Amino acid sequence: MTRPIYMDYHATTPVDARVLEAMLPFFRENFGNPASRNHPYGWDAEAAVEHAREQVARTIGAGGGKEIVFTGGASESNNLAIKGVLEFHRDKGNHLVTCATEHRSVIDTCRSLERRGLARLTVLPVDGYGRVDPRAVDAAITPQTVLVSIMFANNEIGTIHPVAEIGQVAKRRGVPFHTDATQAVGKVPVDVEAMGIDLLSLSAHKICGPKGAGALYVRARNPRVRLLPLIEGGGQERGLRSGTLNVPGIVGLGRACEIAAEAMPEEAPRLASLRDRLQRTLTSALDRVVLNGHPTERLPGNLNLSFRFVESESLLMALNREVALSTGSACSSATLEPSYVLRALGQGDDLAHASVRFGLGRFTTGEEVDVVAARVVAEVRRLRGLSADYAMARAS
Ligand code: PMP
Repeated sequence: MTRPIYMDYHATTPVDARVLEAMLPFFRENFGNPASRNHPYGWDAEAAVEHAREQVARTIGAGGGKEIVFTGGASESNNLAIKGVLEFHRDKGNHLVTCATEHRSVIDTCRSLERRGLARLTVLPVDGYGRVDPRAVDAAITPQTVLVSIMFANNEIGTIHPVAEIGQVAKRRGVPFHTDATQAVGKVPVDVEAMGIDLLSLSAHKICGPKGAGALYVRARNPRVRLLPLIEGGGQERGLRSGTLNVPGIVGLGRACEIAAEAMPEEAPRLASLRDRLQRTLTSALDRVVLNGHPTERLPGNLNLSFRFVESESLLMALNREVALSTGSACSSATLEPSYVLRALGQGDDLAHASVRFGLGRFTTGEEVDVVAARVVAEVRRLRGLSADYAMARAS
């Protein structure tokens, strides 16, 4: 059986062959521990890790590798940023500012801190396109605020927040600004200096790198960001993340960042134009299709649509042998909860249950887009043909 066309690049991505090639020696002959100071095995591993640190730093405009802390992925980076800064600033206060559409590794972390009485929390609303108003960030900051955490780009709807404006507000108010840039790095320009970002989370597996490798950027000056570690032990990563480094993963992350940055000027417009073609085909063939997220301020590879009168779960079930897609809604355990992201945009349950996320990426081709568009059109028509509500809506 042929594998379905993969169009779920926000969930994860295939590892680029060049990334794998860079990683392989660090499973084999260069298996050393970078903390081993007394022999070339250690030295080679350390040199590779430091090279990766520079590759990551360059990709996000950081001052240098010393501002990069390697982690086990963006969930860990987000936890480290939020809990680490909160812990360090206990004397100042415990107020966190975030927004309603954050990834669970931000919003659930903040909520659990609040529940345990360790933090006070302001969750800012978003507008109908999923964007936070920088003025609302300004208004939410109090003398006790220790961190503003607003994501760069949303993983469901692809909406890009006004990050530079939020960075300016945070700087003016003297509060560190963390952004979860997991979906943005390598897709759109990210520059921690120009955008006033103090902490930034990223993950290798969203940019054709390996799973389980990520990083947190921590600003070293103007001003220096202070935080405490989640994991203590051998004192690796300047004491911020103990544990023997995942050298192959880190090498893969560095190379994936480098390739993504090099490819972006060509890849971003290519994906945006494929995505637009997909959107045009679907919306011209089908009526009652709603775009979720911002029409222009969105990731080039993201399209999120609601097909009214179609349960997206049924649609994807019918298609999953041919196309790997995902619903905008995350299924939570037994119940099929509509997406909290779409809810935050003010959507009713019917539209939220009808949403499909198309995620295009490096290896997506025009031919694949055309096949997917044709299959989705056919299935939406078939399912609507079974819907009395749709027939009624058409007749009225
Ligand atoms: N933040 C965002 C915006 C994401 O999309 C993801 C991955 N779904 C994460 C954080 C978590 O990343 P990881 O899988 O590396 O823990």
